[in-house]
Amino acid sequence: MSEERSLNFIEEIVEEDIAEGKHGGRVLTRFPPEPNGYLHIGHAKSICLNFGLAKKYNGKTNLRFDDTNPTKEETEYVDSIKEDVKWLGFDWAEELYASDYFDKLYDLAVTLIKKGLAYVDDSTAEEIAAQKGTPTEPGTPNQYRSRSVEENLQLFADMKAGKYQDGDKVLRAKIDLASPNMLLRDPLMYRIKHAHHHRTGDAWCIYPMYDFAHGQSDAIEEITHSICTLEFVSHRPLYDLFIEELEIFPSKQYEFARLNMTYTVMSKRKLMQLVAENHVEGWDDPRMSTISGLRRRGYTAASIREFCDRIGVAKRENMIDFSLLEFCIREDLNKTAWRRMAVLDPIKLIITNYPEGQTETLHGENNPEVEGGDGGRDIPFSNELWIEREDFMEEPPKKFFRLGVGLMVRLKNAYIVKCEDFKKDADGNVTEIYCTYIPESKSGHDTSGINVKGTIHWVSVPHAKTAEVRLYDRLFKVEDPSSEEGDFKEYLNPESLHILPNVYIEPDLANAEQGKGYQFIRKGYFTLDKLSTADKLVFNRTVTLKDGWAVKKS
Ligand code: ATP
Ligand code: MG
Repeated sequence: MSEERSLNFIEEIVEEDIAEGKHGGRVLTRFPPEPNGYLHIGHAKSICLNFGLAKKYNGKTNLRFDDTNPTKEETEYVDSIKEDVKWLGFDWAEELYASDYFDKLYDLAVTLIKKGLAYVDDSTAEEIAAQKGTPTEPGTPNQYRSRSVEENLQLFADMKAGKYQDGDKVLRAKIDLASPNMLLRDPLMYRIKHAHHHRTGDAWCIYPMYDFAHGQSDAIEEITHSICTLEFVSHRPLYDLFIEELEIFPSKQYEFARLNMTYTVMSKRKLMQLVAENHVEGWDDPRMSTISGLRRRGYTAASIREFCDRIGVAKRENMIDFSLLEFCIREDLNKTAWRRMAVLDPIKLIITNYPEGQTETLHGENNPEVEGGDGGRDIPFSNELWIEREDFMEEPPKKFFRLGVGLMVRLKNAYIVKCEDFKKDADGNVTEIYCTYIPESKSGHDTSGINVKGTIHWVSVPHAKTAEVRLYDRLFKVEDPSSEEGDFKEYLNPESLHILPNVYIEPDLANAEQGKGYQFIRKGYFTLDKLSTADKLVFNRTVTLKDGWAVKKS
């Protein structure tokens, strides 16, 4: 059982609200992605938080697409977001769209105009910015601010009816041009955009701004706890003010620190550039910090949920080490991944005292971490084997517990062999290694009495299948590419993908299943790539067995 952790600050708020009987003790959260890209691991944190809270307090969570910006949003993104949330293991109460509220939002804007709290402004974006003042100087009202309610109602209706071009007019809230909070200096509520919307088509040519859509959508759905990231702290007064003036359901906003992680970028806009400029294979490239990329890489939903749980919910921004995510996936796969053998950099080993042409079937368990081994598989053995080139040395140093003339190792699930000799080609490269085996040393039936320190993996030459194996490294060379000088893409790691076209794998791996993790013994955790076929197997390395970076960096 996992140890009890103390409540995070949002859980404390929810518990207080429930204790006070606020909203009848009801908890309704929402996850509100804008469908303008694929979700990343930062979104996973928000998903785990919103859905996790609801689950813990017998509440519900809505999936609401914040689709108020027609030019950037697409149905492809909506579908991928739904797939990712489901895959992470969460069910939403309702699938909703801010665009479904366009009529209601329009009516709410009319309500504010009628209360004298909104006006149509003909100024350009530049004029509005100039009139807003600075943090130390108040803004100055223009002639449009004093328009009558009737005129504003008419102009707003004309905006909606398509009488104006993009940028001709905006609807602004009439709040306080001298407010120390710049967002309260008559913020925009609506702008004109003659653009096709992925759901409402051409029905609208005016679209609400975030600040006049988000809180109102929360209120329409009667969201009790609207959780967002810290950059919205300064928006909260506006969030509260609109709700109060409109006398709608009093949703409340709470902010937490967004997830930042080393060696990656975490913004849809930046991830989009990597895709558009072909720095990666797509949104689900296994090097991407997207949920679909991590899934393709072999990350499990459980490991991502565990990661989100471990990083917790903070009120201050920080940077999480990518290694923590790797730690979580290693822990999970150690318990679930089936062990198999694959030789990434092969060299041939010949057993001179094993009859040529003879084969035998050995047995290996699927996972020694599981009681009973989680079943097992047959492993064919013969006198010719592939082993890793690095497991042999011409002149082995002391404590090299692998092969070199005179040294002994155990072949995993098979026999102990002793290296007798080797052959080199004209260039001096070792091409073959000759060994003898100890017939009495068969794994599980060893009566040889010989103890060896090393065990190496192998694949029988006549039985081996081949696969392409893709090894990945960090996508960026620096910890925080976004904070470096110049374009973040200058810091891409040119060595982030390494393809091994011809890896020898034990025959049982031809049955590997999509979505399942395999430990290639001594080489890491792997999973089938989505492009893998029966004719051409392709494996992605999810993660190495140990944290190689901890060593490299020091
Ligand atoms: P991006 O800049 O990547 O597009 P966003 O905040 O604009 O991010 P949205 O689709 O608007 O993306 O986000 C949906 C929800 O996910 C929001 O509530 C947002 O606060 C949250 N979220 C986005 N990025 C992170 C992050 N890095 N850590 C935690 N929560 C995040
Ligand atoms: Mg956004």
